[in-house]
Amino acid sequence: MSSPQEPSFRESVDLMFNRAVALMDLPPGLEEKIRVCNATYTVRFGVRLRGEMVTFTGYRSVHSEHMEPVKGGIRYAINVHQDEVEALAALMTYKCALVEAPFGGSKGGLCIDPRKYEEHELELITRRFAYELAKRDLIHPSQNVPAPDMGTGEREMAWIADQYARMNTTDINARACVTGKPLNAGGIAGRVEATGRGVQYALREFFRHPEDMAKAGLDGKLKGKRVIVQGLGNVGYHAAKFLSQEDGALITGVIERDGALYRSEGLDVEAVHNWIVKHGGISGYPDATLLENGAELLEKECDILIPAALEGVINLSNADRIKAPLIIEAANGPVTAGADEILRNKGTVIIPDMYANAGGVTVSYFEWVKNLSHIRFGRMQRRQEEARHQLVVDELEGLSDSMGKTWTLTEGFKEKYLRGADELELVRSGLDDTMRIAYQSMREVWHSRDDVTDLRTAAYLVSIGKVAASYRAKGL
Ligand code: GLU
Repeated sequence: MSSPQEPSFRESVDLMFNRAVALMDLPPGLEEKIRVCNATYTVRFGVRLRGEMVTFTGYRSVHSEHMEPVKGGIRYAINVHQDEVEALAALMTYKCALVEAPFGGSKGGLCIDPRKYEEHELELITRRFAYELAKRDLIHPSQNVPAPDMGTGEREMAWIADQYARMNTTDINARACVTGKPLNAGGIAGRVEATGRGVQYALREFFRHPEDMAKAGLDGKLKGKRVIVQGLGNVGYHAAKFLSQEDGALITGVIERDGALYRSEGLDVEAVHNWIVKHGGISGYPDATLLENGAELLEKECDILIPAALEGVINLSNADRIKAPLIIEAANGPVTAGADEILRNKGTVIIPDMYANAGGVTVSYFEWVKNLSHIRFGRMQRRQEEARHQLVVDELEGLSDSMGKTWTLTEGFKEKYLRGADELELVRSGLDDTMRIAYQSMREVWHSRDDVTDLRTAAYLVSIGKVAASYRAKGL
């Protein structure tokens, strides 16, 4: 994806780290300790599928254990490799520190194209991978807590949780061994949408500060802003959906594996998403212009560019042609170190990955706490909330009566509403607070120091400062 003279993803993360530590006053030994990845475990295991033994390769990398458990997703992708997993683990360390989720950084990967397998095959493979990691404490409620990432979701997390529980039948905290589980397997409301929601909250916070907008040559509100989204997976889809439906942004472009869609008046995100689910890609979608070379759309004029898929998509080969004045990194590492420099020199404002996509791990933290506390999240507020939600249900039913009973609230809806709404509300407000506070901590550094000219360096300064403080407190 990136040109040959470009450093690898891990080197790119290190270069960005180095740029920031050069502005800090850390003892060199500590600097090195924070930068390096502590350990990466590689496992090869066989699974009997369709009558033959298939060998899979997986990784779990632990970047920093200044806090435990360490935390980070498990990615299923055919070309996942050690360097990538280590870079992603490092980003988890900085991300958690920035949003004050009390975890170290970790990441996992399995070399697999999940689309090639049936569900029951994926279950066998996932359970075996989970077994291999759990027996080395690389899945463990107090040591290492995975979560979804590209190619995995609630389903895989439920299998992992169950596998761990079978191996640790007396562990009362077994459910906290992994986050991103379905609600009925110990998950938390709002986790699936959390990363996309976090992107929305991050942008809302950015647009509350006229001086910050001015740095990108923008003004006004999110409403009417032209947004191009690369990747309509879990993160890109939710971000695009919330920004268009709730903030009035225009999603003018969507870039997918098989091409890109453009519509200057804004795309109907829900319709595009449904089309992709039904047809396996965007081609044939009727209400937009189709561009066969999707990457071209990254370079199209817009106000906000949201890379929400792979790392390295904005690199030395296209950075100087990117026109968006504001980029928000919903994916991990979408801008290479070289491209970052080109964009910085052009005055492009980049809201960095370690902040922009921290919504997922923030809500993972809530889920982990919920699992360890063994009480329903938000229990204290429940009575008050229940009374309020009952009023809403009564009102909706009254409305239905007055409309001649053309529709009714199902028992399921009522039950879910009464039971789940308090949790979802708490998750959303907790996430919003977290995104605001973290933004302000970055912003303060950005505005107060002459030697810090970009938000990424500011983010690194804040998070490295926190990691360093916790190493110092431990006496290491
Ligand atoms: N995979 C997500 C990330 O990159 C979530 C990690 C988590 O929830 O632990 O941030």
